[in-house]
Amino acid sequence: MSSRSSIKPPVITLSAGPVALYPRVLQGLARPVEYDYDPWFQQFYEDVARKAAKAMRVAQPALILHCEPAPGIEATAASLIGPDDVVLNLASGVYGKGFGYWSARYHKEMVEIEVPFNESIGPAAVAAAFKQRPDIKVVSLVHHDTPSGTINPAREIGKIVRDHGALLIVDAVSSFGGMDIHPDDCFADVFITGPGKCLGGAPGLTVMSVSERAWQHIAANPKAPFASALSLKDWKDAWSKDKPFPFTPSVAEVNGLDAALDQYLEEGAEKVWHRHALTARATRAGIQAMGLSLWAKSEAIASPTCTAVKVPDGMKDSDIIAAARAEFGVVFSSGRNDTLGKLIRIGHMGPVAEPIYAIVALTAFGGALRKLGRKVDLGAGIEAASAVIAQGKA
Ligand SMILES: *Cc1c(COP(=O)(O)O)cnc(C)c1O
Repeated sequence: MSSRSSIKPPVITLSAGPVALYPRVLQGLARPVEYDYDPWFQQFYEDVARKAAKAMRVAQPALILHCEPAPGIEATAASLIGPDDVVLNLASGVYGKGFGYWSARYHKEMVEIEVPFNESIGPAAVAAAFKQRPDIKVVSLVHHDTPSGTINPAREIGKIVRDHGALLIVDAVSSFGGMDIHPDDCFADVFITGPGKCLGGAPGLTVMSVSERAWQHIAANPKAPFASALSLKDWKDAWSKDKPFPFTPSVAEVNGLDAALDQYLEEGAEKVWHRHALTARATRAGIQAMGLSLWAKSEAIASPTCTAVKVPDGMKDSDIIAAARAEFGVVFSSGRNDTLGKLIRIGHMGPVAEPIYAIVALTAFGGALRKLGRKVDLGAGIEAASAVIAQGKA
């Protein structure tokens, strides 16, 4: 027996990613791992890249990198940002702030707009930054900064960036597939997502849409890596059944992505977004009715794919998370870096973006607090969430 066998597996995972997988994705991951240069696989790979483009509502087949999205974002910084580029980094959370550290390896200079991690970036601040620094060439935005559970106004910001002729990178890893966001809506030149969050897939791939302007900038960047894990160029044409792979693709992960995309497209995007938003709204209503506070400064910027709850005064996040896991087998996520210890995250991603899981989350959250000696009006929380669900309006 392995030493881990004494720990029981979770009953229900309501994490902020990696998430519970759709049964269909599990079946996809179990398909045969074909030889990558077999004509069947080359055609399949092109079909998957086209299917991902269809989901992202773009014409050009998706760029797939065979790593989880964090290195995919790092590869974007390495490939796109040249030694003469001034970068505007927009930081409303841990991922936004983190991009600046990657950017620093490649840029000439960085301008940063940072807001408290329970707020979002205002488009007016972006416009003001361009007024001061018309030489800004690349802008980086995290649409949903997951460790804060907050959403930035990507469309409004994207419009300003495009009007100034700069290139925009959008990290939509934990929002795409769970809400209405696509590369062209937000004028993204590099749009980055992956199967491991709202698509209910495994976390091992990066799925991207790259504009022609961005490819031109990469081609003109003398420092853009090639023959490297940080190279976008290497994989640019790999979607085509007639072009070689620079390295072996992660065949099993591509099988899983294919199934996750089928799940999303066949159910219908609008329906998928609706159940994410309704689950989040019901959860927020219940959390507040139990006398707890949301981390987001306003509900308007609270994510429909992840609810961040402030840790109640005098309590420890790790105690609450451990009690929910021990008493109910329910998994929540903590904060990360600067938000660690301040909040607990309830994920509404993929198969658990169903309203009934709002009730599950509230029962486990409230039950954990009770176990730790707090008085909680669990009934009020369940009533409030049930009322939202009955109304059906996200
Ligand atoms: C999950 C996530 C990523 C990717 O992180 P990995 O560690 O590669 O899974 C990137 N950006 C955001 C906003 C995320 O939520």
